[in-house]
Amino acid sequence: MIFIVIYYYLKLGIHMESKKNIVVTGGSGLVGKHLHKILPNAIYLSSKDCNLMNMNEIDSMMKNYNPRIVIHLAAKVGGILDNINYPVDYIEQNLIINGNLLKKCHEYNVERVIAILSTCIYPDKADKYPMSEKNLFNGPPADTNFSYALSKRAMAVHIESYVKQYQKQWCYLIPCNLYGEHDKFEHHHSHFVSALINKIYEAEDSIELLGSGKPLRQFMYADDLANIIKYFIDNKVNENVNVAPNYTYSIDEIARIGIKSCGKEHLKIIYKNQKLDGQFRKDVDSSKLLNILGDFKFTSLEEGIKKVYDNFSKRYN
Ligand code: NAP
Repeated sequence: MIFIVIYYYLKLGIHMESKKNIVVTGGSGLVGKHLHKILPNAIYLSSKDCNLMNMNEIDSMMKNYNPRIVIHLAAKVGGILDNINYPVDYIEQNLIINGNLLKKCHEYNVERVIAILSTCIYPDKADKYPMSEKNLFNGPPADTNFSYALSKRAMAVHIESYVKQYQKQWCYLIPCNLYGEHDKFEHHHSHFVSALINKIYEAEDSIELLGSGKPLRQFMYADDLANIIKYFIDNKVNENVNVAPNYTYSIDEIARIGIKSCGKEHLKIIYKNQKLDGQFRKDVDSSKLLNILGDFKFTSLEEGIKKVYDNFSKRYN
């Protein structure tokens, strides 16, 4: 009898011991690369390592790594024009990627999933700003990224359903717009702040920006989000929270801060195609997060832009 008990104890022990990997989907993207700096021992996957559209590939990945924690960053992500022109791709790919992955995380008993939504999935118009997590379903998202937004909202419901039905320790974070050294900087593929940095670097007299400059935005340095993900892992936090600094600027103010932080105050700003503004505002309230983190300080826009600009100039000089 004693041998049987020892046998099962060892078997269970070995099984629990082997289940310690952290797998990061979207590991080749902006957030994935920033997370890699502060969490180097996790396993970072791109779509080439595991295409999340394909259930069999996820199944092999799960067998291979047997993760205890999955940080789900992967998504079909793009700018306004791409979202307007290819809405089917956004809804289809994201629904399949998220649905496939969560199903396999359940099947393979992944203890914790931390998934990433986005503040651009909040209602296009709200009665009160900044919006709290309770506002997420209080109205339709902006027309310009309706498909992307609904696929991300579906993932929120999917995760909450797993929590309710199977008592999972799973959660999601809702970050605002991001920028960082590891973003794509080519004009057509980059996010606003990274495109701005590239434009400021190349410009002699002026920079051209799309839209009117009036919409309001929160922008976060990607290292801040990476540090918060690490905090959630280390401290076993499973709360669904907004993640955004408490400053909100107009696009015009952000451009002027950028120009100043990069030391090119002589540059003029020219606005083109003023109708291409996207959602007017979507600022969110991070007080739930800050209550969890205590004395966390977000990187200021001035400091973050300067860091990214200095790194960008070194690379392209
Ligand atoms: P990103 O730079 O565009 O990277 C996307 C990542 O997803 C890449 O690693 C890509 O792999 C992977 N991916 C795409 N399709 C895949 C598939 N079929 N199978 C497996 N992997 C796939 O994105 P990011 O800016 O790091 O964003 C990370 C997360 O944060 C996303 O969920 C996004 O919605 C969210 N978010 C981003 C921002 C922002 O401003 N960047 C703001 C709020 C929320 P490949 O490199 O192989 O293509």
